[in-house]
Amino acid sequence: MTVYSGPVFEMAVNQFNVIANHLEIPFDERDRILMPKRAVTVSCPIHRDDGSVAVFEGYRVQHHLTMGPTKGGTRFAPSVDIGEVAALAIWMSWKCALVGLPYGGAKGGVNVDLSTISRRELESLSRRYMQEMIPFVGPHTDVMAPDMGTNEQVMAWFMDTYSMYQGQTVTEIVTGKPVSNGGTLGRREATGRGVAHLSKRVMKELNIDPHKATAVIQGFGNVGSYAALELYQFGLKVTAVSDHTGALHDANGLDIPALIRHASTHGSIAGFSNQLAFDPAEVLTLPCTVLVPAALERVIDAKTAENLKCRILAEGANGPTTPEADLVLDKRRDEIFVIPDILCNSGGVVVSYFEWVQDLQQLFWEEEEVTRREYQILNRAFDQMLARAGTDKISHRTAAMAIGVEKVRAAKNTRGLFP
Ligand code: NAD
Repeated sequence: MTVYSGPVFEMAVNQFNVIANHLEIPFDERDRILMPKRAVTVSCPIHRDDGSVAVFEGYRVQHHLTMGPTKGGTRFAPSVDIGEVAALAIWMSWKCALVGLPYGGAKGGVNVDLSTISRRELESLSRRYMQEMIPFVGPHTDVMAPDMGTNEQVMAWFMDTYSMYQGQTVTEIVTGKPVSNGGTLGRREATGRGVAHLSKRVMKELNIDPHKATAVIQGFGNVGSYAALELYQFGLKVTAVSDHTGALHDANGLDIPALIRHASTHGSIAGFSNQLAFDPAEVLTLPCTVLVPAALERVIDAKTAENLKCRILAEGANGPTTPEADLVLDKRRDEIFVIPDILCNSGGVVVSYFEWVQDLQQLFWEEEEVTRREYQILNRAFDQMLARAGTDKISHRTAAMAIGVEKVRAAKNTRGLFP
């Protein structure tokens, strides 16, 4: 038992053990690579609109500071606990190392149901959370970004709160900011674009004609909506989409630009069409070419994995597939091409890295340059993953994670015990 114990953390531990066994890492080295360097829990009291005071619990976990600052998103959701945050921080470390960024992983979050707070209360909570984090973060210590339930506006409040404390504007303290506050062009679209880019690469490898292909997307927030749009523009029919309010299905293909307009006005896909309403529980197992889980973790368990009818599983979300499901997918390797989360959704942190670099240098790039460099990094990591999976005869996830874990291990071993 550790302070992190819980289902999501156990999943990160189990995945790591598979990699550590594969790499034959000695047992006395494993905890040092796996266990987070530090974790902070804070209380965030705010005034509610009715004058009362409510206290929310917030967390930040920094996995390792061996290769540079830590980097990771901040999640505002009712599911958030320290174990989930720790698991997400660990996955960020493997991801950053896989794609070659000079970061360790971090993650943070506040346990809050956003449907129960107003916009003013959200601003108070965001500012209070950052205020509590000031002793633990910094542009060269730990750089935050958005995740589920947070967005550009929340990042702007974080940046403003940190900057007011420093007495100067410190744009490089967070990424995923509005462009008007030092954000980069192409960050909003980066994760979904990366998911779509890698899906297209796999379609090419498998000789699939995009105009005869279909896509199904679970989650229609930042990642899901941009992945859907890119695939739609590439010629695929997006036949089903779901979010926390329900699902829509149209065998002829949904009008994704119209759905994005609807969701940005109404906050969800609810009310777009009664005729197209569909059972959200059946979305993941619909027949399709590309399946993109882009909402929560652990949505694909062993039973769902048995029933998947996609050709490509493009993991937009973090941790959507359980280790038990991985065993099933291993057996179905010839039927389903898995693009594992730490590669598939890494476009987000890659462009966050570009944003940090641009802020530090105060030299800003064109969107075309951002996206071209994003795809270049994704292509390199994809090639490395495929090559490793081929030589070691292992799954794509094991290959991707092995590359990440190896890099962190090498950096730790050459530096010494301290970082
Ligand atoms: P978001 O808050 O913008 O969107 C989340 C979406 O999931 C919403 O549409 C929500 O309605 C939907 N959802 C919630 N519960 C659901 C359920 N039970 N069934 C179906 N849909 C449900 O979040 P996001 O930033 O798009 O993140 C989604 C996932 O992608 C998370 O796992 C996140 O960690 C991961 N991710 C995000 C980024 C990024 O840049 N935003 C980068 C890498 C990974």
